[in-house]
Amino acid sequence: MTEFADLVQRIEPHPRNVSHYVAKHARRGDPADVLATMDRYAREERFLMNIGPDKGALVEEVFDRIPSDARILEVGAYCGYSAVLFASKLGGGGSLVSLEVGEESVEAARANVAFAGLSDRVEILLGASGDSIPMLSGTFDLVFLDHWKDLYKADLQAIEAKGLLKPGSLVVADNVGESFNPTAYLEYVRTCGRFDSEHRESTIEYHTLPDAVEISVYRGPGTA
Ligand code: CA
Repeated sequence: MTEFADLVQRIEPHPRNVSHYVAKHARRGDPADVLATMDRYAREERFLMNIGPDKGALVEEVFDRIPSDARILEVGAYCGYSAVLFASKLGGGGSLVSLEVGEESVEAARANVAFAGLSDRVEILLGASGDSIPMLSGTFDLVFLDHWKDLYKADLQAIEAKGLLKPGSLVVADNVGESFNPTAYLEYVRTCGRFDSEHRESTIEYHTLPDAVEISVYRGPGTA
């Protein structure tokens, strides 16, 4: 078995186990401790498909580039790790909407967000991204793609079609390293003419396997 296949075998603990672990071991109302507790779970119990702590510098960079009252759209909440991380970095007036297809994940993510004391600025919507995106309105300063990798391209196109981006909006796609076969998404975002796109090498969360993040700045709809 390859190292990557072996890693994937260990993915997908029940999200409920993660929120129970957080409720048992983390400090209520302390987002940093909730994240540290999820990191500990991922290292000691089961691998978690979170953004993880190793991409911290990238996250800092992204947050330097958006306003403190930003509106964030996350696609793929899973256990709520990045929802807690991002919401804890927002100032007053900022908010995050997260789309998640797994019922148990929605439950766990909401529990973790509530435990961290961030429910007032986070909304987690249950449903397939393709169904939820057309229901959204307004524009977002940051879109974070971290769900099924095969859906990145179609969902970004749906986000554009719905007018959810404005010039300068950032689209950050996690896990676009080669192991994830990201060619269709990367080709689209780099060649459609509506984004300035940068590739950042990284490692898969909680692991040393190579990975990457694509950061794309929306230019505007253009005339094409
Ligand atoms: Ca990820």
